[in-house]
Amino acid sequence: MKRIIYIPFDHLHRNFGALKEADPKQDVMAMVESARMTTGRNWHKERLFFLISSARHFAESLKDEGFTVEYVKAATTIDGLETIKAKHKLSEVICAEPSSFRQFEALQKCGVTFIANDFFLTPRPLFKEWADSQKSFLMENFYRLQRSRLNNLMEKGKPTGGAWNFDKENRLPPPKKYEGPAYLEHKRDQIDIEVAKELGHTPTTTWATTRKGALDQLKNFIDNHFAEFGPLEDAMTTDNWALHHSLLSPYLNNGLIHAEEVIAEAVKAFNSGKVPIESAEGFIRQIIGWREYVNGMYWFLGPDYRENNQLKATRKLLPLFTDSNKTKMNCIKETVADIEERAWVHHIPRLMLLSNLALVTGTNPQEFLDWMREVFIDATEWVMVPNVIGMGVHADGGAMMTKPYAAGGAYISRMSNYCKPCVYNPKLRTGEDACPFTTLYWDFLDRHKETFAKNHRMSQQFFGLNRLSDLPELKQRAKEVLEGLEQGTI
Ligand code: SF4
Repeated sequence: MKRIIYIPFDHLHRNFGALKEADPKQDVMAMVESARMTTGRNWHKERLFFLISSARHFAESLKDEGFTVEYVKAATTIDGLETIKAKHKLSEVICAEPSSFRQFEALQKCGVTFIANDFFLTPRPLFKEWADSQKSFLMENFYRLQRSRLNNLMEKGKPTGGAWNFDKENRLPPPKKYEGPAYLEHKRDQIDIEVAKELGHTPTTTWATTRKGALDQLKNFIDNHFAEFGPLEDAMTTDNWALHHSLLSPYLNNGLIHAEEVIAEAVKAFNSGKVPIESAEGFIRQIIGWREYVNGMYWFLGPDYRENNQLKATRKLLPLFTDSNKTKMNCIKETVADIEERAWVHHIPRLMLLSNLALVTGTNPQEFLDWMREVFIDATEWVMVPNVIGMGVHADGGAMMTKPYAAGGAYISRMSNYCKPCVYNPKLRTGEDACPFTTLYWDFLDRHKETFAKNHRMSQQFFGLNRLSDLPELKQRAKEVLEGLEQGTI
């Protein structure tokens, strides 16, 4: 019987999802470019370009394979599907479980039949089984189980290299004037040019929009960056915007490449002896640990989780997030400028600069979450909700993380080259030259001392707070800093 197979823009893989069982002779492939998706929010144009051009390329590849492909533009996904159903006089629509609660509900209402989502290595029921059995949802526990279950970097039931993680080796600051190998550039074709024209955007050459490009990126990472990935994975430098990060998350998240394929190549490279264990483990942890954990937690925590605001943070989104010229803080200026250029910075600026700033300034978590969703090339709902609400701004009362990721200028100064040319001094917490991060870090601890009083993992931080002799001056400076940040003058 003829069926419609609906392919969301993040299921772009021939061998996974509903497509793996598709029959070119029978099935109609449905793809919908919805106005809600393209103009519904203030999306970064580089992100829209990447998602739309990848989908259009994918539609073409299916046509080349002999499929009947309906790629329509419509007000909503459901409107588009109704148009395709009417045109082909078909009622059955199949789709792999979508990747957000909102889409799940919309498709369910319109009668779509779901098959299990296999774009991850951990089936949703399996993750739920693990989470149900836990008192606290420590990623480390989940990760160790994944290593054993998937048999990655394991020898006779023990972790390869004798340890589950090599975090100590993987915390190097950036070397001075570090260039590293050149990054891969992706040439633009006719489809890219058309999409860019429609969006009124001049895309970078950073992001591939085809399966071949995504595989080239994987090969480039394995050949040129993987060995050095680990030690520098937390470093930040203005000398090199990507260091040795893989830049694979956009393709993993829109389906052009599958985690299974990435892990297979990573393990092969490690087994060849060219990659040290700290890099192999650090990278594999990101894929089979963090990525799977965050997706699992999104579904486990439920649709209301994104509305959490347990620290009662009410400040409106600061102007520096949407305009890098609205701050003198060098670390934030450089980071936001990078995002403006290519819709990407790696996990440490996301966590220790952007989220840290939202946390210590008491920015409303939902406003910050919306901004993060809009500006990053790889920002799917499932990845951003737990990462921002749970990990980034601790708005969930500690459901995911045992303590907030708040840090002052000392951490940023140690892990980057941002501070030297900055007008502020990371060592100072009061006075006009004080680093806003340092001032606001202590102010944050003081504002929330009752909330975290019983958190033994923060006892050292509160010990430090209690020893501050200049708390009244610091509180005054914090007030000035927050006003300056709101006005875009700090
Ligand atoms: Fe950022 Fe503070 Fe360093 Fe300036 S001194 S770059 S504001 S951490």
